[in-house]
Amino acid sequence: MIDLLSLAPDAARDALAQWLAARGEPAYRAKQIVPRLWQRPAASWDDASDLPTGLRRGLAARQLSRDGTEKYLWSLGGGEAIESVLIPEWRRRTLCISSQEGCALGCVFCATGRMGFRQNLSAAEITGQVRELMLLDPSLKPTNVVFMGMGEPLLNWDAVDTALTILNHPDGLGIGARHVTVSTVGILPNLARLARRPEQFRLALSLHAPTAERRRELMPIEKKYGLPDVMKALQQFRRRVTLEYVLIGGKNDALEDADRLAKLARPLGALVNLLPLHPGGAPDLTPSARAQMLAFERRLKARGVVAVLRRSRGLDISAACGQLRVELEARRREVRPEEHARVE
Ligand code: SAH
Ligand code: SF4
Repeated sequence: MIDLLSLAPDAARDALAQWLAARGEPAYRAKQIVPRLWQRPAASWDDASDLPTGLRRGLAARQLSRDGTEKYLWSLGGGEAIESVLIPEWRRRTLCISSQEGCALGCVFCATGRMGFRQNLSAAEITGQVRELMLLDPSLKPTNVVFMGMGEPLLNWDAVDTALTILNHPDGLGIGARHVTVSTVGILPNLARLARRPEQFRLALSLHAPTAERRRELMPIEKKYGLPDVMKALQQFRRRVTLEYVLIGGKNDALEDADRLAKLARPLGALVNLLPLHPGGAPDLTPSARAQMLAFERRLKARGVVAVLRRSRGLDISAACGQLRVELEARRREVRPEEHARVE
């Protein structure tokens, strides 16, 4: 069976044309079906009442189900779950989505990393996080999408590649490429593939340390794709990139680290996103003191770098992402037996 939601719009139209022809259905049906994939999504083909019943039944595709309010924990069936977080800010609504369930890369500060790798998401499951939100309430359609939920998007390239097309294509979700950000630790071969795409998707590179030695302590992937090569790849990216830097008390938040970071960021003209450590991911690490974070930010600015210190408390995009499922699991564990009994 072909899952139309897993295909980029042009490929979906081709597959549909063949499917309709094989069933002896008129070709114009494709024009009725394609808009119900992304533009006016149908929860099930039974809802697409402009289509004949026989056709509707034949189209039934896998759907995600939902749980939660501004944060969404989507069940994949079989007890598996992924998360997305919707962050309204001014006129923007930024949705932080997941590309994998869990993550194999084990960065020491990250809750998703602690889970380990469970599975790759399909393109339909990745973009489904936006689609299901629109089914819940069309006015929730995000203006911006960031791949900062669970997983490393560039280790699930084929699905992410298609998902980017669906997010951006006018017959897909129609979100401008500049409003879609891929966050990665820098998986070099696939970073090159992303760079080759003609659309201006934005890139956020998770740096977190100003030297290779220090980065290796925080991010095991440094052994495979080292800082010098990652910096070289960023120079070739030809688009303004964002460097992400989680501030960890005593580990990477000294003013000398800010100086070294400035030396990396300046030649790239990169924006530096400073993220307070969300303690959920790392019981043995401490967030930087507020005063130190402010001093670090000031130092970067004094060195001519555009830097933004994000808010804490899970309110901000990057800090909130990747932590939801772990928080929910922890809360579930806190429920006492007598409370279970009362619920039942
Ligand atoms: N795997 C990709 C994308 C998902 S993580 C990546 O690492 O870039 C998205 C962002 O959340 C990354 O910048 C990551 O460093 C950050 N992050 C992970 N754990 C965090 C924590 N405990 N506190 C604050 N930010 C965290
Ligand atoms: Fe994976 Fe990103 Fe978390 Fe590292 S920070 S473990 S790459 S999700």
